[in-house]
Amino acid sequence: MADILIKDGFVVTMDRDRRVLPRGDVYVVDDRITEIGEDLRVRDPEYMVDARHHLVMPGFVNAHSHLQQYFRGVYELMGDFFETNLPLEGYRRPEQMETLGLASCAEFIYGGCTTSMLIYTYPAGYARAVAEAGNRCHMAGDIEHVDLEKLKNGEFVYIPEKRDAAMKRAKDLYFNWHGGADGRITTLMCPKAPDMAMPDVYMECKEFADEHGLSMTTHLSQSMREYRQVQRLFGKTPPQHLYDLGVMDEKLSGAHLTYGTAKDFHLIKETGMSILHCHSVESPLIDWLDMGIPVGLGTDDYYHDMLDLIRKQRTGVMNR
Ligand SMILES: [Zn+2]
Repeated sequence: MADILIKDGFVVTMDRDRRVLPRGDVYVVDDRITEIGEDLRVRDPEYMVDARHHLVMPGFVNAHSHLQQYFRGVYELMGDFFETNLPLEGYRRPEQMETLGLASCAEFIYGGCTTSMLIYTYPAGYARAVAEAGNRCHMAGDIEHVDLEKLKNGEFVYIPEKRDAAMKRAKDLYFNWHGGADGRITTLMCPKAPDMAMPDVYMECKEFADEHGLSMTTHLSQSMREYRQVQRLFGKTPPQHLYDLGVMDEKLSGAHLTYGTAKDFHLIKETGMSILHCHSVESPLIDWLDMGIPVGLGTDDYYHDMLDLIRKQRTGVMNR
């Protein structure tokens, strides 16, 4: 038996009564919290953590994230998502994922995220990292089939081979890792976004998800470029497009919704879909909550610090 006494922290319990102990103790035996209170009498714990001036609370669930650390410092300097970020993705190599994955897991833990939803192109190496690091991940291999170099200039060219390879990686992730690492790894399906994955990708993902009891996630109404491309191809808003495809339901979550219409949000509400809110201050977060739409928070950035996300959200400095 290993026991840990966390002492004198600012304890936010998140229990049914939402108790907050300005100077509280938490006692953990093996992997269970057995007691929370003030000045707990514990004789000779194996580990003691002095938590004075620290916040002690349950781990965050980071509802939308990617492995992006290697872009840090580049994107911020160079700027545009489509001109810099997406083309850079072409330089990634699957064999780098384990090392980068470990760094990313460490950052999740450091940022207070015990559970994260992670979407990445080469997920297998990342899953090995999660197995080693000890955090919990709900993972997807994202599926898109756009020529990213051409997209840099605003041109959408869809490549069938890229689609097939990404679909295979996503399904292999389920077959090889779902329920893995003592249940810490679970998987879901992720067509990347309605401008970057065509309807057949959404339909195949939905079929696979239904067959295996998985949920689905996607980027949705994230950028004006996506919005315009979906309008051009289908004559609809991105949420209306997914609704008409029949993939919008309570098992689908959509990240961003930066450019949603009132009708879009009613469709979302009606179908029970959830929204993953990241860092756009333009998004009508309060309206979504008032409507009763389930909302999750995700970092979707180069570091996975949830407190930083909340702080910046409140001051609006991450507006972009
Ligand atoms: Zn994202």
